[in-house]
Amino acid sequence: MASRKKRKDDLDGFSVMKAAQQAAGSGKKASTDPPDSAQDRAVSGTSTPYAEKSAYSKARRTAMPSVREVICLQCSHPLEVKGKLTQTVCHKCRTRLELKDITIEGEWSEDIETAGDITIGVDAVVCAGTIVGNNIFLEGQVQGGVIRAARSLSIASSAVYPWRDIETLDLVIPAGTEIDLGDHKATYRNATIAGSLSASLHLSGLLKIQAGGLFSGEYLGSHLEVEEGGGLKARLNVEPRAEG
Ligand SMILES: [Zn+2]
Repeated sequence: MASRKKRKDDLDGFSVMKAAQQAAGSGKKASTDPPDSAQDRAVSGTSTPYAEKSAYSKARRTAMPSVREVICLQCSHPLEVKGKLTQTVCHKCRTRLELKDITIEGEWSEDIETAGDITIGVDAVVCAGTIVGNNIFLEGQVQGGVIRAARSLSIASSAVYPWRDIETLDLVIPAGTEIDLGDHKATYRNATIAGSLSASLHLSGLLKIQAGGLFSGEYLGSHLEVEEGGGLKARLNVEPRAEG
């Protein structure tokens, strides 16, 4: 119990209480068992609806083809790509887009272009080349070349890189990553923060701070979501988007 996250404890606390009430009202077993085991039984009993619910949504996820967002490398038009397609065509500019996922390891100095995901592995060193992908997961080093994520860039804590050579639409700061951009004005569509980001952030989309994440500095935008357990220590200017 002690190692569980707080929210779960709260939920469990509630479940225990509810279960205890139910057990007291109807349970012959509860009254014959010692209190501790009655409580254990009650807890596992009430966890069933949650288990069923998650099994249900899991089944739904499996049944429904997954849809992901791919940003056209040519014209930046957002596309919805279903399932496991290996290529697609932009509805807007008709460019054919390869959806191959690529992982880079070791020393790298070639160009890459894919509308799939690119992982720059923890042991990778990018020396040259233009690397263009839909989502880029940066774990290694960028010493040269240009990195362009058409959609999102996720920066691991192990990553070493110069900001000036990196371009992305969405910024993802995973847990464990701490980035301080100081007064550098950072403009993106969405930012998702599970680690720590300090910046002067200007977004056209959503700033989402996940549990355990912290954003500090300044935020200018229209959409803000702070999950339970997420931290926000910033000057805010969040206004409804003007119509038209
Ligand atoms: Zn296009």
